[in-house]
Amino acid sequence: MLGSWGRYPPPRHVAERPIAWRDEPLPEARPLLAYGQGRSYGDSCLNDGGALVPTAGLDRFISFEGSLLRCESGVTLGEILSLSVPRGFFLPVVPGTRHVSVGGAIANDIHGKNHHRAGTFGRHVRRLELLRSDGRVECAPGDELFAATVGGLGLTGLITWAELELKPIPGSAMRVEAIPFGGLDEFFALSEESDARCEYTVAWLHVVRSRGIFFRGDHAAGAARPPRRGLIVPFSLPLVIDLTTEAFNKTYFTAQKMGPRSRAEHFEKFFFPLDALAGWNRLYGKRGLLQFQCVVPTKEALQALLQEAPSSPLTVLKKFGELQSPGILSFPRPGFTLALDVPNRGAETYALYLRLENIAVEAGGAIYPAKDARMAPKSFARSYPRRGEFERHIDPAFSSSFWRRVAR
Ligand SMILES: Cc1cc2nc3c(=O)[nH]c(=O)nc-3n(C[C@H](O)[C@H](O)[C@H](O)COP(=O)(O)OP(=O)(O)OC[C@H]3O[C@@H](n4cnc5c(N)ncnc54)[C@H](O)[C@@H]3O)c2cc1C
Repeated sequence: MLGSWGRYPPPRHVAERPIAWRDEPLPEARPLLAYGQGRSYGDSCLNDGGALVPTAGLDRFISFEGSLLRCESGVTLGEILSLSVPRGFFLPVVPGTRHVSVGGAIANDIHGKNHHRAGTFGRHVRRLELLRSDGRVECAPGDELFAATVGGLGLTGLITWAELELKPIPGSAMRVEAIPFGGLDEFFALSEESDARCEYTVAWLHVVRSRGIFFRGDHAAGAARPPRRGLIVPFSLPLVIDLTTEAFNKTYFTAQKMGPRSRAEHFEKFFFPLDALAGWNRLYGKRGLLQFQCVVPTKEALQALLQEAPSSPLTVLKKFGELQSPGILSFPRPGFTLALDVPNRGAETYALYLRLENIAVEAGGAIYPAKDARMAPKSFARSYPRRGEFERHIDPAFSSSFWRRVAR
C-alpha cells in the first residue's frame, strides 16, 4: 500500500486509481488526492477513507526549448536532471532528494540550498494545467488559482503538466567547501558571509556537541564522477542514530583535516547524499519517523528550539532569504529553518514535537506541511493566516488526511 516517507501515520485510503494520460478524466472515487513519489514525511500525501491518484504514469517530457521545459507532473526531478544537465541546464531549485515529482514539488512549493538566491520552486513555474472536477484549466503566475496551487497541497485539483524555467550551468561539477564550526554564533557568521557569495549553503549540526559542518557550493565547469547508487536497505534496523553519528563524525573530521580548501564533486553528491542509500527511511523501524521542520524569524527562537531539541546527530539548518514565496500557503519565509528526524517512540515523541511546535509558532514561525504529521489546528491557523483566501480555490472532489486534521 502506498504510504508516506516517514511511515507515520500508516495509510488508510480505500482505493488507488493511477492516472497515466493527461487527457484522462478524474477517477470517480471521492475524495481524491494526487500522489507523486510519496516523499512527504507525514500525512499531506495520504487520504484516509478516500482514493489516492498515483501520477507516476504521467512521466512524459512535452517540450524543451531554450531554457523552458514542459513535462507531465509525474516526471521526477532526477529524470529532468538526467535530460537537462548534459544539455547545460539545471533545475532552479532542488530538494534533498531527486525522487520528487514535479507535481509534488509544486504542491509543497519546495525549497533548496539556494533559497537565499532563487526563492522557492514555484517562482520558476511559468504555466501549468489543472484537472479539476469541473474541467481543465491552465494557469500562470498572476492568476489566483496559480497562487493557490503552488504550495496548495494537492487540494486545488490534479496538476497534469507544468512548464519550468531552467537555468544554464557550466558543467555537472560543483565547487564545494565543508567548514567545521563550533556553535550558533559561528553558524550565523558563516551564513552571512557565504550567502553573499555562494549560490548554495546549508549546515549540519550536532545538537548536543554543538558543533557543525557548514557546506557551501557553486556550479562549476567540467564533469565529475557521479556517486555510487543502489545500496538498498533490506529490512528495518534501529541503527540509524549510530550510522548518522558515524557519518557526521567522519565528515566533521575530514573537513577539519582539509582546512579551507574547496573540492570538485558531482552535483548528485552535493545535493542528494541520502539517495545513495535507497529506502533509508526503513532504518527507523516499523513505527517510522517524524521529521520536525519549522522556520522561525529570529536567532533567539532558533536558540530556544535547539535547547529543546533531542540529541539528534543530524539537524539541518539553513537561513531562508527574503524572496517572497508565490503560494498562498507556501511555507518558506524569511528566517532560519531547522529540520530534524526523530524516531517514532509514541507519546514521548509526540510530546517533544508539541514542545518544538509551540516554540516555533509562539515565535511567529511555521511548521512545514510536507514534513508534518502532528501539527495542531490552532498552530496551522496561526502560521498560515491566508487559509480563508486559499479555501475558496479548493476543489470539492479533493481532500487529504493532513487537511482534515489541521483545517478543522
Ligand atoms: C530525503 C528527503 C529530502 C527532502 N528535502 C527537501 C528539501 O530540501 N526541501 C523541501 O522543500 N522538501 C524536501 N523534502 C520533501 C519533498 O520535497 C516534498 O515532500 C515533495 O512534495 C515530495 O514530492 P512527491 O512527488 O513525493 O509528492 P508526494 O509526497 O507524493 O505528495 C506531496 C503533495 O503533493 C501533492 N501532489 C503530488 N502530485 C501532484 C499533482 N500532480 N497535482 C497536484 N498535487 C500533487 C500531493 O497531493 C501532496 O499534497 C524532502 C524529502 C525527503 C524524503
